[in-house]
Amino acid sequence: MLQFGRKIQEYGNGQTGMAKKSKQNLPPRRKRMKRSQRLESAKSWLETYEGNKVVKAYRKRYGVNFECAFTELEMLGVPIDPDYKERVLESVAAQEAAKRQKRARERARRADVWLEYADDETALERAGECVSCDMFRPLEDLGLCPGCAAMLERDLIRQRDWEYSGTAFLLSDEAREELRRKIVAEYGEGLELIDPV
Ligand SMILES: [Zn+2]
Repeated sequence: MLQFGRKIQEYGNGQTGMAKKSKQNLPPRRKRMKRSQRLESAKSWLETYEGNKVVKAYRKRYGVNFECAFTELEMLGVPIDPDYKERVLESVAAQEAAKRQKRARERARRADVWLEYADDETALERAGECVSCDMFRPLEDLGLCPGCAAMLERDLIRQRDWEYSGTAFLLSDEAREELRRKIVAEYGEGLELIDPV
């Protein structure tokens, strides 16, 4: 088991850091503008724009996301179809949620959990494949590894499913909200493990 732990540890340490961005490779100035600068610049650009995909063109020109493009184009008085806007923003949110979950699962995958169990003889007996991240780990309730179980617990608290949460179950309403605030502040609002409906 110790060997297994070491192997996992090596894997965890083997990640390479993010490549440093060279200053010479900065994107064009237009893509580094602040909102006020963009709005100013876009006024004259809009007068010359003749296409019919203004949101797409705006995003490409200024390197901004959909939400920012919608907001700023509306500020500039460009009519935006509310249905289109809603559809796009929903799909962006779904994509972001999927990405967050993928990252969270990846984090759990890399976590060096076996070291914590070096002195726990029963850890291996309780071990199996986690139903969420597929890693071979000591399992907790619901067949989840400790990392995924912790994510589920945070999700339950985010969603205020107090009755299912092991840590919030016995707390007062006030203490539950306080716990939720702390979790959102530290780990963000987005769900980590539960698939958003
Ligand atoms: Zn897991």
